[in-house]
Amino acid sequence: MTPSLFDLKGRLALVTGSSRGLGNALARGLAQQGARVILHGRDLAQVEAQARAMADETGASVEAVSFDVTDADAARAAVDALIARHGTPDILVNNAGLQRRAPFNEFAPADWDALVATNLSSLFYVSQSVTRAMGERGSGKVVNIGSVQSKLARETIAPYSATKGAVAMLTQGMAADLARFNIQVNCISPGYFKTEMNTALWQDPAFNQWVEKRTPAQRWGHFDELIGTLVYLCSDASSFVSGQNIFVDGGMTSVV
Ligand code: NDP
Repeated sequence: MTPSLFDLKGRLALVTGSSRGLGNALARGLAQQGARVILHGRDLAQVEAQARAMADETGASVEAVSFDVTDADAARAAVDALIARHGTPDILVNNAGLQRRAPFNEFAPADWDALVATNLSSLFYVSQSVTRAMGERGSGKVVNIGSVQSKLARETIAPYSATKGAVAMLTQGMAADLARFNIQVNCISPGYFKTEMNTALWQDPAFNQWVEKRTPAQRWGHFDELIGTLVYLCSDASSFVSGQNIFVDGGMTSVV
């Protein structure tokens, strides 16, 4: 039988920042398609508990790893150890991220540094060890998680928007360098989804109203709605697609 274009059975996937939120949902989506998944966060006990629960729920092989994505040496050592133990990932999802909000004139330099380290530099640190090994093998899929702020700014989050705009361009640059190794690099940019990161927003009735008015779909996204695009970008179906940024945002970035 010809394998399905979208088949992920047995593929090994590392999803950063998958201890909760969107990363956890993305990892579950891959596990449900038969991928072997490695969950990640900074608290090993928490990630291990999540891995056990996800394995029970999906029947997939789910492992746990912990390291701080802003620490280049720690990320490199952890990825090298993971490759030695499990093999080279077929799929890397760079999802770990952070939000800090303040008016531009009051934004603390330490918060700027934390955003750049977590949302941007980490992609470089984590990806490089993985894509070197993928290159040796001659295949791989990298999916970076951007945001509607990869394209649109909003008050109080200029630094976050700068990092997410850079993620879109890093995606294109990685695509340019890595295509020769049969590695496709793409970006998924979610609209508004209710997670711990934006608790302050979805608990605010005025912000809820704004999201519902501003989004053509008139609502927040459901985690499951990211999975189809992710599976496409992680599967053979997208073998000639690289450097793209797909907005999964209910139409938000298409309208003013
Ligand atoms: P959450 O705050 O719910 O989860 C963030 C994840 O990133 C956690 O697993 C956290 O792990 C991990 N993480 C954060 N910092 C580090 C670090 N230094 N080292 C290792 N892991 C770290 O966020 P979301 O699920 O909302 O966001 C996930 C991604 O999606 C982010 O890149 C975000 O920018 C993006 N996004 C989210 C949107 C939304 O509406 N929620 C919209 C558009 C984009 P730990 O357990 O260690 O804290």
